[in-house]
Parts: sequence; C-alpha cells; structure tokens
Amino acid sequence: MDEDVHDVLVVGGGPTGMMLAAELRLQGIDVVVLEKEKEPSRLVRSLGLHARSIEILDQRGILERFLAEGTVYPGIGRFAGIPSASSPELDTAHGYTLGIPQPVTDRLLEERARELGADVQRGREVVDIAQGAESVDLVLAEGEHVRGRWAVACDGGRSRVRGLLGIGFPGEAADHEWLLGEMEVTAPAEEVAAVSERVRREHRGSGIGPSSNPGLHRAVVPAEGVAEDRTEGPTFEEFLERLRAFVGTDFGGHSPVSLTRFTDATRLAERFRSGRVLLAGDAAHVHPPLGGQGLNLGIQDAFNLGWKLAAVIAGQAPPALLDSYEAERRPVAADVLTTTRAQSVLISGEPGALALRRVLGELMDLPEVDRLLSEKIASLSIRYDLWPGGETPSGIVGRRLRDLPVSSGRLFERMREGRWTLLDPSGAFDAERWSDAVVHVVEPVEDLPAPAVLLRPDGHIAWAATAPALDGPGRPAAQSSPDPSSPEPDPSTLESVLEHWLPR
Ligand SMILES: Cc1cc2nc3c(=O)[nH]c(=O)nc-3n(C[C@H](O)[C@H](O)[C@H](O)COP(=O)(O)OP(=O)(O)OC[C@H]3O[C@@H](n4cnc5c(N)ncnc54)[C@H](O)[C@@H]3O)c2cc1C
Repeated sequence: MDEDVHDVLVVGGGPTGMMLAAELRLQGIDVVVLEKEKEPSRLVRSLGLHARSIEILDQRGILERFLAEGTVYPGIGRFAGIPSASSPELDTAHGYTLGIPQPVTDRLLEERARELGADVQRGREVVDIAQGAESVDLVLAEGEHVRGRWAVACDGGRSRVRGLLGIGFPGEAADHEWLLGEMEVTAPAEEVAAVSERVRREHRGSGIGPSSNPGLHRAVVPAEGVAEDRTEGPTFEEFLERLRAFVGTDFGGHSPVSLTRFTDATRLAERFRSGRVLLAGDAAHVHPPLGGQGLNLGIQDAFNLGWKLAAVIAGQAPPALLDSYEAERRPVAADVLTTTRAQSVLISGEPGALALRRVLGELMDLPEVDRLLSEKIASLSIRYDLWPGGETPSGIVGRRLRDLPVSSGRLFERMREGRWTLLDPSGAFDAERWSDAVVHVVEPVEDLPAPAVLLRPDGHIAWAATAPALDGPGRPAAQSSPDPSSPEPDPSTLESVLEHWLPR
C-alpha cells in the first residue's frame, strides 16, 4: 500500500473520534484524526458517564484516570429525573454515575489516542470527499488532499461528511432551543444559589450554577425561538437578555468563555455507512441531552466499530463483519432516541405530563420497571442480534458480560489488549488455531453464566457453551463438530463461530 495512503481517516476529534482512534491504534492500525478546531473546546456539554461507558474504560485499563478527575455518584441517572422508592440491583460492578465535565473526558480520550500513536492533526477542516474503489480522498479547507483506505465521520450532529455523502438524517426538527454559556458573575454565591434552587424546582432542563471550570458559572436558558442558522453561537448580549427574561437577573455576568445553542431535534441517519465511509457518534444520531446519553452513545459506537474495522483492514475478518456495525448500533441509537423523546414529554411541566410522571413514579417503585429504565440509561441491557434470523443456543449470546473475578484478578484486566477472550475454566476447548487473536483464559471464573464463554473484543458474548465442558478431568467435552458440508456457520460450536468471524 502506498505510504501516503493511511488506513483510516477519522474526521472530527470529539470524544467519538478520539475513542475510535485509540481503539484502532490498539489494534495496530495507522490512523489520522482531522479536527477543524485548533484548540480543544472548553464548552461543558456532557456532565458525566454512565455504567456501560465506565465498563468500557475499565476494559481498556484507563478508568483510573477518569476516576481521578471525576466524582462518583452512587446509582444510575434517574429516568426523566423521577424519584423511586426501589433501588434495583444492576448486573454490573460499576453501578454508579461518574460526574466528569466533557472537556476533561475529551482531553483524557485525546491523551489516550496520542499515547497509542494516533496522528491527531488540529486546524484541519474537511470540506469535500471523493470515494474510489480502494480509497477515500478528503479535501481540506486549505485545498490539501488526504487519502485513506477508510474514513469515519465523527464530525458531530451537523456532520458535513454525512451531508456530502447524501445520507438522509430523518427525524423531528427542533421545536425548542436553549442557550448554554459559561461566564464569570459578580452576584454573591448566596443569590446564585437561591435563584438556582427556584429554577430547579420550576423548570426542569434549565438552570444556573457553578461550573466545573473553576471560577465560572454555567447557565442553560430557553432561547426566544429556534434560530434559523445554528452554526453561529448566540451573542453574549442575547444570552444575558434571555437570562434576565427567564430568571429576573443576569447575575452581573461578564467574561464569557463559551456560548452555544442546542435544541431538542431528534434525528437518526438512514445508513451508518456509504462505501468506505462510516458514521459514528452525533454524526449518526442526535437527540436532546436528557438522560445524558449522547457522548456515552458515541464512545460505545466507537468501541463497537474499532475492532471490526481493524480486523477487516488487517485481513483477519471478512468484510461482512463491518455490516454488523450498523446492524448492531443503529437499533441501539433508535432506542435512545425513543427514551429521550419520552423524557422530553415528561419534563414539559404540562398537566398531562405531570400526571404521567406520577403514574410512572408509582410504576418505578416496582423494581422490575425501575431496573428496565435504569438499564436503558446506563446501556446495560443491550443485546446484539449476532445471528439475524437464526437460532442462538443460549439466551446470553449478544449480551455484554460484566466484570467478574478470575483467579488471577479480574476479567476486565484480561481484556486490555482488545483481543477476543475465551473464558474456559475447565480447559475443555481448543482455540489454538486462533492464538494470535484469542486470549484463552483457563482458570476459575466466579459466576460465569455458562460452562465456557467467548467474548468479542468489545466484551459482548459471541458464543456460550451449553453443556458441562468436561467428560472427565482434562478431557474435552463431546461438543458437536461443525458440519463441514454446511455453508452456514453453526452458532452452537466454538470452532464454527471462530471460523466464521476469524477464518483461518
Ligand atoms: C447541553 C448539552 C448537554 C449534554 N450532556 C450530555 C451528558 O450529560 N452526557 C452525554 O453522554 N452527552 C451529553 N451531551 C451530548 C454530547 O455532548 C455529544 O453527544 C457528544 O459531544 C458527541 O460527541 P461526538 O464526538 O460524536 O461529536 P462532537 O463532540 O460534536 O465532536 C465533533 C468534532 O468534529 C469536529 N468537526 C466538525 N466538522 C468538522 C470538519 N468538517 N472537519 C474536521 N473536524 C470537524 C468538531 O470541531 C468537533 O470537535 C450533551 C450535549 C449538550 C448540547
């Protein structure tokens, strides 16, 4: 391959792009991140991470960095902020929310991508794209061309790449707009706290309070209408004027460090792929920030896509593996859109919504209901359909596996290299032919939900043994062998599953 042709060009260096770049580098893929902004944004959009993203960071050995800069809040974020008397036990070792401002998350993910060798280029805006049979050409604002074998658009909700590819972005246009800003204030802390308390009670989804940026205050206020051109942020005067109209004071605000608009637009890309270009994160889906899931969803998209794209580029897996990215992630995004739509209605303050909140609150006192909604917010209940239309012998195939104690430590510690993992306490299964790609863990695993389990690099279960693994000490079980004459993989046998995804 021409040395001027990179393996992957990632457009956009937000959290999705940086997570993807790190995952690709972990697999040894040559990756360039093209980010239009010269400096990282100081704007605090996301305020935290949910359980599945926390698990992902733990699976890659970087959770400690995030814990060191964040605040652990016990429990999972409440659906539409509705309190409940139940506190269901969730199937995770990380049943908490990590409060961490987006600029810190972005910085830690960028550091990780750079550490692993990603070439992160700032001040590089992609303005055009052309695809050939073997490569993708990106045109930068200054006229330069960059070529890659693949490209991934992680360029946010207003994705230029998505537009250039002509991928539709259907959904609901914005009904409401809010202004978000960070600034210094002259008002005393007690006055800010008193107003903040009143706003919190009366207007869910808006508010003012100290920012995680020291010395600054963060305010979210409803805009007067929905701006026609949202590429431009509000002026500071407009922001202060809305603050005065909304809470009766502007707190003597001055020296703004960031100002932006956001809306309740809800949209899902028609496709997550066009030829050699894939979409991830906000470029593929947008929704109101209720429930705090957008950044989490982007990190999880990147975690699903990274190892697949790497395996296809390395020739380790068939190109069809890439189709599973959209097949698995688009329904997950559609479900998040549904739950955020529901939460938007529930916080409206209208009489019908208030009544619905009361009914839902009573239902959420039932642990099953509370668990279902908490698992949706934390992305813990996702089950990918690994064999569409086919039978899977075990109900756990497609689900993620929580961290479990293994005799040498913890399962997640064994997953840091981003390889497949075969948990095989009795040593009954043979994966020797795949030893370059599969970590074979032959040691006791506490609470393993099957006699043996094969995990993909993203921690989802690809195969689970259904029978006790040993006929006798050290002797392999009589697992049925794949039928060599059948063109279809047999999801019940380990060998067939490995041969399907990692042909040797
Ligand atoms: C008020 C608010 C609160 C939020 N709270 C939460 C929360 O609590 N939890 C949560 O999970 N999510 C939250 N979100 C959502 C979260 O901020 C986004 O989902 C997340 O930033 C998406 O990450 P991304 O990398 O996909 O896109 P972005 O963060 O938008 O990054 C895209 C990057 O691409 C760059 N770019 C754009 N165009 C080009 C181009 N042509 N060439 C090169 N580079 C380009 C941009 O400069 C940017 O750096 C919130 C959002 C808002 C507005």
